[in-house]
Amino acid sequence: MIRPALAALCVALALPAQAQMPAAQQFGAVGTPTSGRAEAIGFYSRGCATGMVRLPESGPTWQAMRLSRNRNWGHPETVKFLQQLSAAATQVGWRGLYIGDIAQPRGGPTPSGHASHQTGLDADIWLMPPPSLSLNATERERLDFAPVTTGTRVNSRWTPAHHALLRAAASDPRVDRIFVAAPIKIAMCRGATATDTPWLQKIRPAAGHDAHAHIRLKCPAGSRFCTPQEPTVAQLSKGGSGCDATLQSWIEPQDPAPAAPARTHPRQYMLADLPAQCSDVLRAR
Ligand SMILES: [Zn+2]
Repeated sequence: MIRPALAALCVALALPAQAQMPAAQQFGAVGTPTSGRAEAIGFYSRGCATGMVRLPESGPTWQAMRLSRNRNWGHPETVKFLQQLSAAATQVGWRGLYIGDIAQPRGGPTPSGHASHQTGLDADIWLMPPPSLSLNATERERLDFAPVTTGTRVNSRWTPAHHALLRAAASDPRVDRIFVAAPIKIAMCRGATATDTPWLQKIRPAAGHDAHAHIRLKCPAGSRFCTPQEPTVAQLSKGGSGCDATLQSWIEPQDPAPAAPARTHPRQYMLADLPAQCSDVLRAR
């Protein structure tokens, strides 16, 4: 039996312990969204969200994947966009889309997997025509990504349909940018003309995106505390498609080889590091 004095001490210790718990663990432990108005709060890699809605696990043209992660929550605009994009995928000859992580029910940092996806405006789509839209929960956990790149080039899994799908996504005014592996962007630059510039500049090279594309939406109207992302330096200086030498340098060996960056751990945010509104979001019933 715990004596009262000891019990009081345990409570006293527990409270600061929770305050010191990384924000990712706290947001990761909340299974439901807040009710009320939808707002993306803060920055894509440092924020949270209210009024999120869940992408239904299955629809006529999509399936949400890795359901056990409970990350199929997004700003209503994001969920609507994904449903529409999955319908557009049928125009390129696919059954629809497999949709990966969007965000946790209240956004925030995740205990694993992403630096961003915190405001309900980032979503991963698989770069793979779905072989079936009737996968069961176990299949959705186990099905593997199939990369469309090998080394510095796209491989035979990359098709004109992939190109058309990403072009459709990037042409949507709600989309701020789309991250794909550099060889994908290089493949999409091939044969591009000036008329492709507006959408092509939204396709940005990013390591690790060889089997999925990461779509980032702009701050939606009504999200008062949402921080937009500045255009990248390349876009500002060239005002162009991003199909330039900088892009090529992503896949070329550097001479001399750059010094290996100091090994750092991803930043682990505490609640106090996030916008102040995120503490209320976490506490809200
Ligand atoms: Zn992503």
